[in-house]
Amino acid sequence: MLCSFIFIRMNKKILTALLGFLLLVAAGTYLTRNLEWSSVDDDSDANNVSTASMQPLIRYGIDLSSFIVEHHVVKPNEFFADILTKYNVAYSTVDFLARESGKIFNLNRIKAGNKCTMLCDKTDSGLVCKKLIYEESKTDYVVFNLEDSLYVYRGQKEVERKQMEVSGVINSSLYETLDENGISTALAVRMADIFAWSIDFYRIQKGDKFKVVYDEDFVRGESVGIGEVKAILFNSGGRDFYAFNYKKDKDPVGDYYDENGNSMKQMFLKAPVKFSRISSHYSLKRFHPVTKQWKAHLGTDYAAPTGTPIMSTADGTIIEAQFKKYNGNYVKIRHNGEYKTQYLHMSKIAKGIHPGVKVKQGDIIGYVGSTGLATGPHVCYRFWLDNKQVDPLKQRLSFTEPLPAKYKADYLRSIQGMKATLDAITYKEHNVVAMKLQRDNQAEALRQATDFTARFF
Ligand SMILES: [Zn+2]
Repeated sequence: MLCSFIFIRMNKKILTALLGFLLLVAAGTYLTRNLEWSSVDDDSDANNVSTASMQPLIRYGIDLSSFIVEHHVVKPNEFFADILTKYNVAYSTVDFLARESGKIFNLNRIKAGNKCTMLCDKTDSGLVCKKLIYEESKTDYVVFNLEDSLYVYRGQKEVERKQMEVSGVINSSLYETLDENGISTALAVRMADIFAWSIDFYRIQKGDKFKVVYDEDFVRGESVGIGEVKAILFNSGGRDFYAFNYKKDKDPVGDYYDENGNSMKQMFLKAPVKFSRISSHYSLKRFHPVTKQWKAHLGTDYAAPTGTPIMSTADGTIIEAQFKKYNGNYVKIRHNGEYKTQYLHMSKIAKGIHPGVKVKQGDIIGYVGSTGLATGPHVCYRFWLDNKQVDPLKQRLSFTEPLPAKYKADYLRSIQGMKATLDAITYKEHNVVAMKLQRDNQAEALRQATDFTARFF
């Protein structure tokens, strides 16, 4: 009534000015809020709660609608106490939490870069934090209840698992587009592991292509990890390589087999290092970059950054692990009566690798370096068949055992649906993934190989 009374008595000019002022205030308030919102870290729904809507909004199993929601990203060297005291939590409370919450969560374990959400009340002395939620990972969080009674508990966000299908055609020099196509790098690592015995991933060529069916986990639409890789079709050099996951009996992880039930595993890995490139092939005559002489090179050189783990390519027993002038630090392994392998120029031999020690395929025996006669970091991989050095890439090496006969019928039946799914996926040209190695420029090639490692495999 008072308002209308005043309005009635105001002339038109003053009214216009007042309306303009009110509009400005409203716009200013709106802008301030939006600036605050844009400066906080994501989760805009949660921010809107405190200001715009009073609809119940459940996050972390808590109705956020009665709180003012504040977000924070833990800074380097920041402690829990730093965060909480800013929100008017008494130091004695923080101290109590630090002592009592240890069994559930050690307050010293907060990591820079992780998110905190503070649910606050507004008081005359500012915002007071009533609950703090610390996100330990993309799925796991810890709730610190600071109102009424103090308590701490863990929670997990709801994870949605989806079956995904991706395909790609490998082209030259466009490997950067992997990210643009949103293919998880973790998936690529898994693909490389599954085909470690059959495909040289460092030698994939233009025109090679792949299709993959796998599970991916999402929290509110954001990918939080790769689940099981169910099936892959990799076409390399015009040849199809299938891999299907199959779980014998109650094995929760399973193993991979091809479309005929052969194991993907072979006696030897294709290479002693992951994600490298061959810088020099086995050859009976090559120009040596250090000695400047033409001489046989009876090994295969894999260039990789110093410190890259070197794996034993097959099960065996260490017969030499030492330093020699030309070999540098090296390890030699006897696999059986027929085969031996040797790995040269290591920066370091792995701990516990001594003559007589038994190793399994894939065990780390040392790290890439350039000790001995070497121009740059690489591992020179040597391969003996019946005491004669041969080119491992030219050997016809046997598969390990196929799936036992009693599982075969079940396996072949079980993969039919998945194989049909794979075959129905079309190779997408726009999912272009590739790498181009400038072989005349080792530094550039190594940089690209490293990038490639980080981005794809
Ligand atoms: Zn070599």
